[in-house]
Amino acid sequence: MSTHEYDVVVVGAGTSGCYAAATIARAGYDVAIVERKSAEEAGHIACGDALKGADAFPEAIPKSKIEPAFTNTEVDHGRFEIPQEDTVLDIPVPGELAVIDRWEYGRLIIEGADEAGAEFHYDTVVQDVLQDDDGRATGIVGKHEGETVQFDADIVIDGAGSLSLLQDKVDFSGSTFDTNVSYSHFSSAYREVVEVPEPVEWSDALVFKPAEIAAGYVWYFPRTETIINAGLGFQMTEEPMKLVDDLKKDLRNREEFEGAEVIDKLGAALPTRRPYDSATAPGYMAVGDAAAHVNPTTGGGIAGAAYAGSYAGEQAVIALEEGDVSEEMLWRYNQRVMDHFGGRYASLDVYNILSTAVDVDDLMGLIASLPGEKLAEALYSGTTSFSPLLLLQTAASSYGHWSQILNFFKVKRLADELLTHYERYPSRPSALAGWQDERDRIMDEIYEVTGADPKY
Ligand SMILES: Cc1cc2nc3c(=O)[nH]c(=O)nc-3n(C[C@H](O)[C@H](O)[C@H](O)COP(=O)(O)OP(=O)(O)OC[C@H]3O[C@@H](n4cnc5c(N)ncnc54)[C@H](O)[C@@H]3O)c2cc1C
Repeated sequence: MSTHEYDVVVVGAGTSGCYAAATIARAGYDVAIVERKSAEEAGHIACGDALKGADAFPEAIPKSKIEPAFTNTEVDHGRFEIPQEDTVLDIPVPGELAVIDRWEYGRLIIEGADEAGAEFHYDTVVQDVLQDDDGRATGIVGKHEGETVQFDADIVIDGAGSLSLLQDKVDFSGSTFDTNVSYSHFSSAYREVVEVPEPVEWSDALVFKPAEIAAGYVWYFPRTETIINAGLGFQMTEEPMKLVDDLKKDLRNREEFEGAEVIDKLGAALPTRRPYDSATAPGYMAVGDAAAHVNPTTGGGIAGAAYAGSYAGEQAVIALEEGDVSEEMLWRYNQRVMDHFGGRYASLDVYNILSTAVDVDDLMGLIASLPGEKLAEALYSGTTSFSPLLLLQTAASSYGHWSQILNFFKVKRLADELLTHYERYPSRPSALAGWQDERDRIMDEIYEVTGADPKY
């Protein structure tokens, strides 16, 4: 067995791990990234390739470093195809959006973290987390080419993605770390990168289409005019979709994909739930998908992973400087995540909960009747407001869906109440339980109004 010693060990060379490690290395601390894939394969991640908020990414890896992977920066709207209503809705996407060459982006962030000073250990599968008698994480154990390797560190950062194996190994009993996690909080998704012979007409749009079940959708994201990321996913509470076959069926029915060639395929699980209430334990922080830092309505997780990684990295540096890696010391990381996007994602999750309890045709009819900009606002900001005039227009165009709309407004009021509650996220771990009680009371009302089964 070989042993390595670092100030911080980060598991996973994805977005969250690379931004965390780059932040820590820039502050002059020794940091390792341990990755199960080979150096060639690292950065190859199942993804829709859409990068939201590309203009305001954290600086630990300079934007100029990742920009060469932005292959389409012309996208400015979502195109929602609703076959049930024979309607196509064009909805503006606020903020900068790029469709990227995801593998190239993955390689570039690895290069960025490497240039910042992080050390990489590839082909190393992490299998266990070490803890001392007080429950503090003190390192990890993995396998590299059949040999056991140990990494001792003051702090472990878990950037191992969805359903992180590390969390099965840690005894979280002395911490607030959120263990209320079930497979039903995840979506199963699959995507193919497809090259078409002729440029598509919608190369400035992200195309969405409902799948045959309410909690699923098909997407077409144009990486260029002729290279399209085509994928689909569904919430794991539903009857499983046959992802590969269903995608094939959809591709076959669209004439723009005639003669298309598949150039890459990958599938994975992604969290479509609220962020973990707490992603800290003594000496331990989880970042990105490993702490559900994903917009649960769009499945967009790259930006959340980059920010969470940076915030965890910054907090790790403070903890190392203070010589204190207790949960109280790391707690500020949770607060920054909740302040920036965690509360918003939790309130968006309410619409996911609603979608599990309604009929897909009703939902599509309702969406088709709502004004596009307002839907866009709701989708990305987690909140929206209707002027009286807009309300009248909406009421006229949505005749036949009034009862759902009334229900939708009740749900929206509760989602807003939830968002306000997340703005009061506690400033110390000991206050978390009281805050959770009030949050759970709001959630109970949400289940009652939507008729959905409790998600958490
Ligand atoms: C099909 C699909 C489509 C998506 N589309 C989009 C999109 O269009 N836009 C968007 O913003 N987001 C999208 N997402 C979500 C996005 O890909 C993730 O949110 C993001 O990649 C999370 O980054 P991460 O660093 O937390 O985890 P990951 O990128 O998953 O990285 C985790 C890393 O940890 C490594 N690892 C895991 N376990 C171990 C172990 N035991 N030992 C060592 N290494 C380990 C993995 O090999 C991997 O390199 C999509 C996800 C899926 C599945």
